[in-house]
Amino acid sequence: MTTPLAALEAVEVDYRGRRALGPFDLSLAPGEIVALVGPSGCGKSTALRLLAGLEAPTRGRVVRTPGRGETAVVFQHPTLMPWATALDNVALPLSLSGAPQDKARGSAREALARVGLAGSEDAKPAQLSGGMAMRVSLARALSTEPRLLLLDEPFAALDEITRRRLADDVLALWDKSRPAMVFVTHNVEEAVYMAARVVVMTPGPGRAAFETAVEAPMPRPDRFRTSPGFRETAERVSAALEAATAAAA
Ligand code: ATP
Repeated sequence: MTTPLAALEAVEVDYRGRRALGPFDLSLAPGEIVALVGPSGCGKSTALRLLAGLEAPTRGRVVRTPGRGETAVVFQHPTLMPWATALDNVALPLSLSGAPQDKARGSAREALARVGLAGSEDAKPAQLSGGMAMRVSLARALSTEPRLLLLDEPFAALDEITRRRLADDVLALWDKSRPAMVFVTHNVEEAVYMAARVVVMTPGPGRAAFETAVEAPMPRPDRFRTSPGFRETAERVSAALEAATAAAA
């Protein structure tokens, strides 16, 4: 078996003496894409914060091999600096990691072009649509070429057409450097479309209730969404999610 890039081992997280997550295990191979699906409040974001190294578990162990600057996190609402241009927003992590100003700006320009935003370098976040702001956020996350990319409901605030387009864009971007990727979503079809493995969690404190591989090459072939394999996997994931939720009710 490949050595995991990151892993959660029997992790539990308590907030104010109450368990919010776990025990939960998740092992992530280099380059693997995993989707975490589960009811609201089951601890998905908490699991992501553990993987990001932003928080420590109350019990259990977190294994992380990415070094400093090799993990990037994208949140549901693009956390852009409102006073800075798109270019400066993307250049920030590169500058912070010590890149000279002109190199940081050059790489940021390239990253914006890759997400289809060439020409919007000087726009301020307030001038961008939700989809464009999310693209800036993705460009910023990818500009540092992370080994671990964590996405917390990145498309939740967007309309269906934009979400689908961005899902394809993320997979195309992922294909360039193939970081390991974990993304949290409430949307079963999005999970099956984007991930090689889908993990369904129980209601809080979340544990793994069901797991399935999604057998299709990456990035996804044309018309994957309408293929029988896709439909069948989405049905199984939906049923598992329903069963996990019902069992806790
Ligand atoms: P959603 O799908 O609604 O975003 P989630 O599955 O991501 O939810 P988390 O945000 O991880 O769930 O939260 C899990 C539980 O822990 C929730 O009950 C939440 O209220 C609680 N929680 C999360 N962060 C904190 C915190 N910093 N302090 C106290 N409680 C917290």
